[in-house]
Amino acid sequence: AGGPPADGADDPLAPPDASDARVLLEARGIRKSFGANEVLRGVDFSVRRGEVVTLIGPSGSGKTTVLRSLNGLETPDAGTLAFDGGPEIDFATPPSKADRLAMRDRSAMVFQQHNLFPHMTVIENVIEGPVRVQKVPRARAIAEAEALLDRVGLAEKRDAHPFELSGGQQQRVGIVRALALKPDLLLFDEPTSALDPELVGEVLHVIKELADEGWTMVVVTHELQFARQAADEVLFMDGGVIVERGAPERMFRAPREERTRRFLDRLL
Ligand code: ADP
Repeated sequence: AGGPPADGADDPLAPPDASDARVLLEARGIRKSFGANEVLRGVDFSVRRGEVVTLIGPSGSGKTTVLRSLNGLETPDAGTLAFDGGPEIDFATPPSKADRLAMRDRSAMVFQQHNLFPHMTVIENVIEGPVRVQKVPRARAIAEAEALLDRVGLAEKRDAHPFELSGGQQQRVGIVRALALKPDLLLFDEPTSALDPELVGEVLHVIKELADEGWTMVVVTHELQFARQAADEVLFMDGGVIVERGAPERMFRAPREERTRRFLDRLL
C-alpha cells in the first residue's frame, strides 16, 4: 500500500487522503460475547491511513466479529473505537444513534457473498447506497459508478443482472458498491472464500490494486499469499485475542508465537 496521493475530491477513483499517514482507526479493548461464548477477549489495534491490515487465524477465532464491530454490524460489550483521533465511542454504554451512523459512514464492507440485490441491474446496485443513503444526485452517482465499473473491467456489465455474472464478476461489483460509498476504510470479510478457485485471482487482483493505490483496508482472509503481498501488517488471531502482529515477511518467515507457527505450518 501507500500509493499516489488522491488527485482531487471529485475523482471517484481516488482513495480518500491516501497520502495522509495519520491513524485512521484506533480500537482498544474490544470485547464481545454471544451468550456464554466469549468471542473477543480484548482486541487492540490501529490502522493508519493508506495501510492494509490483514486478519488471519483459525476459523472461529473472532476475525469476522472484529470486522463487523468496526462498522456497527455488531456492538461490542466493551472497548473503544476512535476515528481520526476524534472522540472515542465507548461501548461501556450502548452507542448513540450518532455514534452508529458515524461508524457506518466511515467504512464499507465487502462480504463473503456479494449480497447484491438480485432484481436490480449492476448499475442500480452500485448507485443504491450513494443515492438513497448519501443523497448523491442520481446523474452524478451514475457517472461515478460507470467510472468505477470501468476500473474493474465491468463497464459492459452495467445493465446486467447479478445472475448473469460469474461469481468473480459479482464480487467485483460488490467491491465497486463499497467504493461508491467513498468510505475512509474498506472492510473485506473473506472476499474470496465463496468463490470457485479459478475465480479467486481476479478478485484478489482488484483488491491488491486498490491497496497499491493507497486505499485503507482491513482484510479478513485465508489467502496467505495475498496477505504476504498486500499487507502492511498482519494480525494473527486465536481464541478471541491477537496473538501476534507484524509485517508479513517477518511473521511468515519467523513467527514468534507457537500458536502462529502451528497455524502457518498447516497453511504454507
Ligand atoms: P472467524 O471469523 O475467525 O471464523 P467469527 O468472528 O466468525 O470467527 O466467530 C467467532 C465465534 O463467534 C464463533 O464461535 C461463532 O460461532 C460465534 N459467532 C459469531 N457470530 C455469532 C452470532 N451472531 N451469534 C452467535 N455466535 C456467533
